[in-house]
Amino acid sequence: MLRAPTKTTPRPLAGGRHLLLVGGGHAHLGVLRAFAMRPEPGLTLTLVARELDALYSGMLPGLVAGLYREEECRVDLLPLAAAAGARLIHDSAVGLDLAAGRVLCARHPSLGFDLLSLDIGSDSRLDVPGAAEHGLPVRPIGSFPARLEAALAALGSGTPRLAVVGGGAGGAELALSLRRRLAAGGRPAEVVLLAGHALLPRAGALARTVLGRALRRRGIRVLEGAEVTRAGPEGLALADGRQVACDLALWATGAAAPAWLAETGLALDPQGFVAVDAALRSVSDPRVFAAGDVAAVLPHPREKAGVYAVRQGRPLAANLRRALRGEALRPFRPQRHALALIGTGDGEAVALRGRLALSGAWLWRLKRRIDRRWVEGFRVPAAMPAEEEEAPMRCAGCGGKVPAEALSAALRRLPALPGRGDILLGLEAPDDAAVLLPPEGEALVQTVDMFRAFLGDLHLFGRIAANHALGDIHAMGGRPLAALAIAALPHGPAARLAEDLHAMLAGAQEVLEAEGARLVGGHSAEGAEIALGFAVTGAVAPARLLRASGLRPGDRLVLTKPLGTGVILAAAMRGAARSAWLEAAVASMQRSSGPAARVLVEAGATACTDVTGFGLLGHLGGMLRASGLAARLDPEAVPLLAGVREALARGIRSTLHEANAAAVAGLLDPALLAAPERAALLDPQTAGGLLAGVPAARAAACLAALRRLGCEAAVIGTVEPGPPRLRLGPEAVPAAVPVPG
Ligand SMILES: Cc1cc2nc3c(=O)[nH]c(=O)nc-3n(C[C@H](O)[C@H](O)[C@H](O)COP(=O)(O)OP(=O)(O)OC[C@H]3O[C@@H](n4cnc5c(N)ncnc54)[C@H](O)[C@@H]3O)c2cc1C
Repeated sequence: MLRAPTKTTPRPLAGGRHLLLVGGGHAHLGVLRAFAMRPEPGLTLTLVARELDALYSGMLPGLVAGLYREEECRVDLLPLAAAAGARLIHDSAVGLDLAAGRVLCARHPSLGFDLLSLDIGSDSRLDVPGAAEHGLPVRPIGSFPARLEAALAALGSGTPRLAVVGGGAGGAELALSLRRRLAAGGRPAEVVLLAGHALLPRAGALARTVLGRALRRRGIRVLEGAEVTRAGPEGLALADGRQVACDLALWATGAAAPAWLAETGLALDPQGFVAVDAALRSVSDPRVFAAGDVAAVLPHPREKAGVYAVRQGRPLAANLRRALRGEALRPFRPQRHALALIGTGDGEAVALRGRLALSGAWLWRLKRRIDRRWVEGFRVPAAMPAEEEEAPMRCAGCGGKVPAEALSAALRRLPALPGRGDILLGLEAPDDAAVLLPPEGEALVQTVDMFRAFLGDLHLFGRIAANHALGDIHAMGGRPLAALAIAALPHGPAARLAEDLHAMLAGAQEVLEAEGARLVGGHSAEGAEIALGFAVTGAVAPARLLRASGLRPGDRLVLTKPLGTGVILAAAMRGAARSAWLEAAVASMQRSSGPAARVLVEAGATACTDVTGFGLLGHLGGMLRASGLAARLDPEAVPLLAGVREALARGIRSTLHEANAAAVAGLLDPALLAAPERAALLDPQTAGGLLAGVPAARAAACLAALRRLGCEAAVIGTVEPGPPRLRLGPEAVPAAVPVPG
């Protein structure tokens, strides 16, 4: 039984080694569970995954048939990785530099490893002309449900004609599932299964008979001796000259190796899969392991099926552990015949094992029980709020410096940037301090921010930390010019420190450059935990300066981003957040406030601030105190991030919540916090949105302009005369009402 994670911030490096898992396939789920149940001291574990919710192949046909909901068939990698203490990086590996011991990623800097394990599944084999353009490949399976939905939605009216190419167990089960799915939706389809040479080519006659009967009884036409030679917009051409007209052809002909493996230099089998020995270790590179479809286990060749990937999880975890400890590996022999249970989509299943075959309703019940239990075995119970003992936004103390060797290695790998006339000395010519030329006719704006890492993906954390720091400059109506980084890293080997520092700075630099700010220097120190911050310098023409004070009665209060990053991060730290929630929060935290600030300035904003650690009410309270005014707030109008309502209803709060509540207690109409979801108004925000007062007559146009930018902006209240006070009430809110006179 998995336990709730107690700590999900990146683990300090204990001088240990780095195990990099690529792909959240079936075997790697087993590896993560094994390391969650028995952590390996000193190990840094990272998972790179293209999808954050791994689809269990055994339930895919049931999902297609409409017998399961999507979330029943998927394992959310976020809590599982957290329980295993793994850093989770949402990205695709696209290459391998074996000489340097690094994995190349699509959107992140490359990742170094001491040990690498690949469980990335397979693609569909599309070797028939026209198949890539006109067929719907069933692999990779993770994205298949969405691709299928889109293809079914695009079918014209009338009875759909569907063809499934491939007569293996997967193709047959898919044909049955599709038929059931469309019939249940009141749109019966003609389904034909093109079985190539024969149905179940590697099984015995009994299996073929039982499965063939099950297919035909459900009205599925099975064409054997039907080799497809071409796919086109009208249908399929067969080798014997026959034509099969169809509206949609699904390609279930077998597995192909991911193409990028061919360039890696790893030994591959003739089909391009990673050649491994019985211990699941690459036959050409002892640092590399592979399992699941992507592995070709040379001593024990088997078909590509999830059941084999599932069984490899435990021996793979054990051998990775042995390799980390320098112990001898143990060979693993997979089962010779796997039990295949093929659901018919209508409450029965056909069981095949070797030459044996059976069918019946009890077999479907058995299959359903086995599959559900398997997926449930990877669910991580959420920790109770009381178990949270750390303040998520508090900076750890600093010790000595990060060694010069690590620092220069991290900086060396940052991309070289063109010189800038206003920066006399920066990172390209390091000195005791950076030297900038002040902008002519503009005032300087300066700010500093720092916090502990809350994501295992340090590149992403660097992006968010930079965006958060820039928020203050934007809130003042300024434009960023330069930034100094301050980073804390726990003691560890220089190479690992360099890796982590580089990941954070590379992410930050991307964001800073996009906003016109040059990273000109910084300071790095040893600390108990990973932390990053920036001192940012910006410029602003005094006439465009936005201040927190300056609100006027009648101003509409405009908020440019939804609330809830604090509660979502708190939920993620307890293993209680869905990956979709964290994804939405991460997207929001990466959204720059620069364009929104420019819209607010153009709309004549009277005052502005960025909503961060003190929460919406804290920052609004600050604006009201500074302006000597009151406001009426409509909590229903305040946009919330996905998952915030659910997390708050479960009692999850950021640790700063109570302090934020105490800070505004004297200012509030208590009715403002009457409903549980209103706790979001006190939630501390990381890289939160801007809150501005906009003259009422211009509020509607301002809101429309913000929404055109893609901001989930809203008018959430109105400024009123009177001493600083926050009242409840939607009645004064409408954005479009012009101010009389
Ligand atoms: C329609 C259909 C039905 C099937 N039904 C069954 C069945 O009932 N029983 C059965 O045993 N088998 C079944 N299979 C076969 C089964 O899907 C595969 O054998 C199984 O999924 C392989 O598991 P895996 O761990 O190798 O990879 P997958 O389960 O495919 O997982 C690979 C993971 O790696 C990620 N990934 C891929 N590339 C990268 C990258 N470059 N970087 C980072 N991450 C990456 C993917 O997002 C994915 O999450 C079926 C196949 C199909 C097509």
